[in-house]
Amino acid sequence: MQNSRFNLKVEVIGTGGAFNTDKTNSSFLVHLKGTKILVDCGYNVFPYLKQKKHSLLDELDIVAITHLDDDHIGSLRSLIFYRWFIVGKKTTITANKKILKDLKTFLPKESIWNYKNPSNYKGIKTVRGEHHIDSFGFMFWTKKSFVYISGDTKATKHIEKTVTKKAKTKDAFLLHDYSYYSGSEQISHMTESNMKQCYTKGFYEELNFYHNEKSSLSGCIFKGV
Ligand SMILES: [Zn+2]
Repeated sequence: MQNSRFNLKVEVIGTGGAFNTDKTNSSFLVHLKGTKILVDCGYNVFPYLKQKKHSLLDELDIVAITHLDDDHIGSLRSLIFYRWFIVGKKTTITANKKILKDLKTFLPKESIWNYKNPSNYKGIKTVRGEHHIDSFGFMFWTKKSFVYISGDTKATKHIEKTVTKKAKTKDAFLLHDYSYYSGSEQISHMTESNMKQCYTKGFYEELNFYHNEKSSLSGCIFKGV
């Protein structure tokens, strides 16, 4: 993947939701101008990377966290410990500042990891979602390409407005939480009816669904300049 002419790429680590225990939790590897960003690190993500002897365990630059549910941070502590004690590296974490306080209570001492506000990075910004706890998706962009990863959230007008504005004329790739469970509207995931109620047709037709049992997204799913 190095020396590639593509400045923004997305690889799938997993697309499962909390209850899809036979799948790897939803997690993506975003390459942004040579920076390797792991988006979310749920309860079976570190075991998956370890079993694969994935180069990411060594080469990772940033872990981006959407929210503090187990299927998004469940193996983050193990990842941080592994990188500190085995690889010999400190792990950098970025997330919306609103979840930092709670994240700190979950993580080990800050001497082995550090936090950077997304505003420190050119081409990274969080987008507020609506979930049962605070949850923030991520937008990644270059001059010509754009990626949105929703994290767990219902469809909201704020999301469409924010994402559409930032994506503008760029080559855009949108990944959105989608649940097939009835009752998901109460537990704050996007369902078919919630999607069609909140989003315009033009927007929801562009969405690639993940965080469910049916998602078949795998490998490198987006390459943009
Ligand atoms: Zn969640």
